[in-house]
Formats: sequence, C-alpha cells, structure tokens
Amino acid sequence: MFNWLMPVRTVLDEAEKPVRLFFRDDDAGWVNDRLYLLLDEFAYAGMPIDVAVIPRAINHHLVDELLLRWQQGRHLIGLHQHGYGHLNHESAGRRCEFGGSRSKTQQKVDISKGQVMLRAAFGNALEPHFTPPWNRCTAKTVECLEELDFHLLSKDVTAAQLESSKLKQVPVHIDWSKILKTSPTPLVTLGEAIAAHIGCNAVTGIMLHHANMDAESLKPLAELLAVLVGHSNTQGIRLRDTLGYGTECKQSEKLPML
Ligand SMILES: [Zn+2]
Repeated sequence: MFNWLMPVRTVLDEAEKPVRLFFRDDDAGWVNDRLYLLLDEFAYAGMPIDVAVIPRAINHHLVDELLLRWQQGRHLIGLHQHGYGHLNHESAGRRCEFGGSRSKTQQKVDISKGQVMLRAAFGNALEPHFTPPWNRCTAKTVECLEELDFHLLSKDVTAAQLESSKLKQVPVHIDWSKILKTSPTPLVTLGEAIAAHIGCNAVTGIMLHHANMDAESLKPLAELLAVLVGHSNTQGIRLRDTLGYGTECKQSEKLPML
C-alpha cells in the first residue's frame, strides 16, 4: 500500500541521533477558525509549534484564544511577530512588506508599532522573533530588528542571506501548502522533501499556512505528526530552542529548492 510517509520513517529509523525539526504557522489573525483547528492537531499530538502573528490583524478573541492555549501548554506553543500589516509595498517584482522600496525609517516605524501592539496583547508570552511576510526582507530590516532587540529572524532558506552578528537566523525549508498546490504528486513530493531535509539539516523548519488548510487537508498533517511523535528519533522543538545551536549542515544547500 502506498504510504507517503515511508521516506520520513526510513530517515528516522536510520538516524544516528534525534532529528530536530520545528513547525512555523504563518498569518495568525487571518482565518482564525482554521488556525484553531490546526493548533488542536498540534496539541493533540503533543508537538510544539511557533505561530507568527500579524499585529494589525489581531482581535480580542484571537488574543484570548492564543493566550489560553499558551497557558495550557507553554512549552508547546510560541508566539512571535509576523510583519506589521502584511501589506505589499513593492510596485514591481515579488511581494514584500519590508522590501527594497522602503527606507529604514519606514521599516522601523512599522516593526516597532507591531511590536508594541503584540507586547500589549500577549505580554511575556510574546517571543523576540520576527518572520517577514512572504519570507523576505532586506539588510535594513535586519538593522531595525537588531535595534529593536529582536533575537531571531525566520525566513525561507532560499531567501537572500543577510548578515547579522546579533540576530539568530533560523530558516524554514519546506513550504507545505506550496508543495501540495504545485506538485503533480503532492504527497509523494512532500514526503520526499521532508525526508531529504530532516536527513541532512541540523534543524529543519516546516512552514504551514492554516488559511490554506481545511479539515480535509489537515489529515496528512495529522498523519505526519503521528509518525513523528511516535518515533524515538524525533525531537520537535520551538524556534527559541535553536538559540545557541547551529541549524544547517553544509549539504543542505545542495538540496532541491522545495
Ligand atoms: Zn504571511
């Protein structure tokens, strides 16, 4: 019988030490009903997850719901900032909220306003991490984040490398929704991509977008989580757990861009 998770299981079986991976779900504030269903899956499995929250999209219900879940299992859920308004400011090229057309002052004002909003909403549940919308930003963004006392930046592994001596940079490697949407053999491709990365990276990041995941499409996720938590060679971590660790092995750069 076809089992799309067989490659993942094989890597876990053969790993000489526990495989470290994290999940990052983006766009909290949008389609929150689906966010809660996704978080239910992680809570049920006992797998940690980092949630990237759009400051301008929060409301009281979302804040209460996330804080409740954080209080119930604070080692399992992390909350951090996802841009400011998730707006595209580029007139040409790829979409970006913190792209080349924006000055450092403009970027810093937005990031700072978002930081103030989220700190007021989430207090000490908020972690000093930043995920830029569309997974891209510029060297100016990095300067702003350093000055605003952020500790960690998470974007896509294929995005431009940005130098920083202060910020830990922890990329995601797998874009779950994109693979499922674009591959002619979605689950096969997804299983092979996850296996390739966890077999190589010191830490692998899997990015989710709950807004794209209805109840039916949560099933493969639940299957993956069941395999991961059921295997002694899995170490599900949070972004904050990477502070102080390396995240990449050299071979990772040779893996296909998925
Ligand atoms: Zn986003």
